[in-house]
Amino acid sequence: MTTRKTLLYKNSFEPDGWAVNHVQGCSHGCRFPCYAYLMSKRFGRVNSYKDWLIPFVVSNYRELIDKELKKLQGRIRRVVMSFMTDPFMYDPGTGDLIPDVKEATYYIIRAVNSCGIPVTTLTKGFYPDDLPVEELHGDNCYGVTLVSLNENFRLHMEPFTAPYEMRLSSLRKVSERGGNTWVCMEPYPTPNIDRTAGEIDTILEKIDFTGTIAFGALNYSKLTEKYKESRLFYGKMSERVREFCRKKGIEFSPH
Ligand code: SF4
Repeated sequence: MTTRKTLLYKNSFEPDGWAVNHVQGCSHGCRFPCYAYLMSKRFGRVNSYKDWLIPFVVSNYRELIDKELKKLQGRIRRVVMSFMTDPFMYDPGTGDLIPDVKEATYYIIRAVNSCGIPVTTLTKGFYPDDLPVEELHGDNCYGVTLVSLNENFRLHMEPFTAPYEMRLSSLRKVSERGGNTWVCMEPYPTPNIDRTAGEIDTILEKIDFTGTIAFGALNYSKLTEKYKESRLFYGKMSERVREFCRKKGIEFSPH
C-alpha cells in the first residue's frame, strides 16, 4: 500500500501549472530508460525494474486531492497527469486498462475539472470509450506518446504498453468526440535503435487530426550517442514535423 502526504505539486514547465502522480510504479516498463523509474530507484521508492512494473495507486488520493484543491483555490491554471507514472495504464494480459489506476485517474480528472481547472493527460495506454469527454472540462487536453509505428520496436523498448494502432484509434475517437488532442513524439529514436525512425512522415500522416505535436530527441542515451549523425538526423526530423504542422495548421511544440 502506498500513502502520500501530498499529491498536487508545482510543475516547473509552465507558470501556474501543477501535476499529480497518483500511482507509484508503471506497468509499461519502458526501457529508454524511464526517468520516473530511475528517480524512484534513486530515492528508494522501488528496488528494481521488477518492482517498478507493479503499480500501487496512492491509497489516500481521494482525501488528498479534495483537500488540496480547496487549499490551492485560484492558484492552479492546469494539472498535468502525469510526469512520474501513466494515468491510463495498459495491461497486456487483459488487453484493457488496469482498473484501479483508471478509477483513480477518473476521480482526479473529475475533481480537478469540477473546480474549473483543465487537465492535460499523456499516456502510452489508450483512452477508453467510457471516458466522458463531453461532460469534462472543454480545455482538457488528451495526449498519447507515439515515437514509432514499428511493433517490434515497441515490444523491445516499451514492452507492456498498448499497441500503437490501439493508442491512435482511441485518440482519434476522443478527437471525433470534440476533445482536444496532442501527440508527444518524444523520446524519438535514432535509426540504429528503430530502423524505421527515418520514416517519420508515415507517423505524421496518421496524426493529422491532432491539435498539437510535440517533438523531442532521445537524450542522454548511449544508443543515441553511438549514432554518429544524431544531431543532423534530429535536425532533419524536427524540420519535417515543423513543416507538416505548418501545412496542416497543427501547433508544433519542439522540446
Ligand atoms: S509509460 Fe512513462 S512512466 Fe511508464 S514506464 Fe514508460 S516512460 Fe516510464
